[in-house]
Formats: sequence, C-alpha cells, structure tokens
Amino acid sequence: MPNPDRPDGSLSRREAGYLYSTRDYRIPEIHIGLEPIRSFKDLFHLKALTRTIRSPIVRNIFAARVINLRSIESLKNARRSLEDVYFRDYETSMIRLDNMRAIEVDLSYEIRELKKDTYYLEHGEDYFFDYIGKLYNNFDQYVIKGLDFLDGLAFNCFITDRDGTTNNYCGHYRSSIQPIYNAVFLSRFASICTENPIFITSAPLKDFGIVDVSVNPESVFIYAGSKGREFLDLDQQEHRAFIDPLKQSMLDELSRRVCSLEKDPDFEKFFYVGSGLQLKFGQLTIARQDVSNSIPEDESLALLESVSGIVRELDPDGSVFRVNDTGRDVEVIVTVNGDNGLKDFDKGDGLKYIDSRLGLDLERGPHLVCGDTASDIPMLKAVQEYTDDVYAIFVTRDPELVRKVTNICSNTLIVPSPDILLTILGISALSARRNSGKRACGIFL
Ligand SMILES: [Mg+2]
Repeated sequence: MPNPDRPDGSLSRREAGYLYSTRDYRIPEIHIGLEPIRSFKDLFHLKALTRTIRSPIVRNIFAARVINLRSIESLKNARRSLEDVYFRDYETSMIRLDNMRAIEVDLSYEIRELKKDTYYLEHGEDYFFDYIGKLYNNFDQYVIKGLDFLDGLAFNCFITDRDGTTNNYCGHYRSSIQPIYNAVFLSRFASICTENPIFITSAPLKDFGIVDVSVNPESVFIYAGSKGREFLDLDQQEHRAFIDPLKQSMLDELSRRVCSLEKDPDFEKFFYVGSGLQLKFGQLTIARQDVSNSIPEDESLALLESVSGIVRELDPDGSVFRVNDTGRDVEVIVTVNGDNGLKDFDKGDGLKYIDSRLGLDLERGPHLVCGDTASDIPMLKAVQEYTDDVYAIFVTRDPELVRKVTNICSNTLIVPSPDILLTILGISALSARRNSGKRACGIFL
C-alpha cells in the first residue's frame, strides 16, 4: 500500500523491518526510563520488559547480527530503577503491598544480573570473564578444571536443573529472568556440544513458568516443568503425563484452599516471596522462606503447619499427596505408582516420561547431568539405569550432597556457583570439536 507520507514510494525503516523477514530479530523500542518501583506489580512488570529486550538480543547474537546500543541503555535504566528502591533506605528496602503494609525485598539478584549483562554487551566476553572472575574465589582454577573435565566431549543428553544450577537464585521466581550472558553460554554449549539439551525444573512449564523466564533462542532446549510431568519439545509441541482424574480433582480442591490463604494477613506475604505460589501440573508449591531468610521462622512454620493441615484433611490416609518441605518451599505432590507402592513423582520419572515421548536413545552416552540439590539426584540415577557413560556437574557447597553425588557417579565435578558452571560450558563450546549435534533454526554457530 503506498505510504501517503512518502509519495516516492520509499519505505520507512520500520516498514522495511517488516518487509524483510527480520521481524523476529527486532529489539523493541521500549524506553525503560527511571521507573518508580512501588509495588511487586511494578517490579514484575519492569522485569518482564527486560525479557522482551533480552530475548531478541540473544537471538541477534546467535544470528551474528550486531545489536542496537540503545537497548543497553534500557537495561541500564532498568537497573537504576531497581537500585532506587533498594538503596533508598539502607535499613528497610521495602515494597508496599498496600497503603498499610510493606514487605522487605532483596533485589540483589536483579541488580547484579542486569549489571553483568550490560558489562557483557559493552566489553565483550574476555573482559566479562575477568569481571565475573573477581566475584568468586579460585574462579580460574575451577574453570580450568571444568574444561579439562568436559574435554571437548560431545554429549547425547544434557539434562539440567535451572534454579541454583544454571541460574543464580533469585528472591522472586517471577523476576528471575535469565540474563543474556547466561543464555549465550548455555545455548552455545547446547547447540554445539549436545544433541538433546533438556531443562527439568520443578517450577511450572508456563503461565507462569520456566518458559516465561528464559531467553534462550527458541528450539534450542526442551523445557520440562513440574519435574518433567509437562514439557515443550523442540517443535514447540506440549506434552503432559497422565494424572488420575480423581487425584486431579483433589489437587484442584487443595489449590483452591491454599489460594484462599492469601486473604489472611498473616499469610499474604508468602504469595510474594521466593517461589510464591506455583500451581503446577501434578503439584502445588508455596514458598515459606526466601533465599535471604527474610521471613521470621515462627511465621514460616505457621504456614507449613497450615498447608499440612489442609492436606491431612483432604487426604487423611496419605494416598494422594506427598508433602515435601525443602525448608524454603512446601511442595505438595500427587503420588504415582512406584516399584514399592505409591511414591512422589521425581525428576527421574520426568526424564523417563520425556524419553517415552521423544526417544532420547538413553543407552547411548555420554550424557551430562547438572543439578544443585538432592531433588536433582533422581535425574542422575535415571540415566545411569541406561548407561555408565554419564558425567555430572553439581553446583553446591554442601559436603553431604557432594558425598551423595560422588558415590552415585564417579565422573563428578563440583563447582561452587552457577556462574562458574556457565563459564565452563560457554568456553568449552568454543573449542569443541564439531559434531552432528542438532542446530536450531537461526543459530549461526
Ligand atoms: Mg535447583
């Protein structure tokens, strides 16, 4: 259609952008000014905006396109807005729930990760390694050891947890948007060094779940939520495991009753801190503590008791639900039939479900399994039922977990932080021998 403002028929730059098939690479012109952050709604909105900028930046990097520098300015302004809340009063970094009440927030994840992203984009990867290397003790030694451990290997499956493993822990799940550098390192490794890269998280798949906080290019990773009970394959098809309809209706009733706790002023805060309330497929999770332990212990235990009470009322003989208290989250999981009767669904069951739908060829190693807590061990055990050709990297400082993992898998590397794992994977892919690994559409590498 002729443009009335341009009688010569030339196209505006915007129109040209739509004319060529570059729409998916456009970084939106969102001006993140110095936004006032007064509520969780403001915070989550701002973080969602950073995702709409971060996502196409990553896509452009993988397509070997130079990015628009104005987008870096938006990310810097997002960070300044958060610093404005965080440092306004050193004693109380408060966000208001309403006119009467406020809650203390820890925005250190958000601020730190935005700072790292802008540093990465402005200074490039080598200076970035120097920068994050200064944040951790013995960084270089860990990275060199890790590169030696991976030895340029090409893996069949790369099965990994997200939070605490490839992503630093964040005070609020909804604002734990994956940073750009994180997506570049992970997706590079996944595309070059692995055939079946799979995230298995206990968070939901979407609305609101892992898909909503990730910025890896599409079709690089298989995303599995609810411990693998639901997943999105590389063709963007969703799969969901069977759940007994009777158990599902009891989970619906449990969800309704736990949701109603938000109306109780004593319990309202648990819907905003840490994982918040997550209604998953076959599971419900509610936070009772966040990563910075900002909830007093007696209040945290009161929530645990209240949720456990509802579960006992609905399921007195314990045949439908299992309650798993991680100290930070209360998980209520719908049971499945195991070898020795009823059991809770774990990430090993999730991996087997994904295999049943996609055919991962699990007998053929090597596989790499990454995790950070005991709930990730079932993924490791599950792959070992098919082959011994398994490598594990665990991100932990807990000696008991280190002992458990090394007993299960002799090829284990332990690192103290997600950034060190990411750096190992990102560098390892740079020197990897090329193999027949799958390439997602738009990946230049
Ligand atoms: Mg984890």
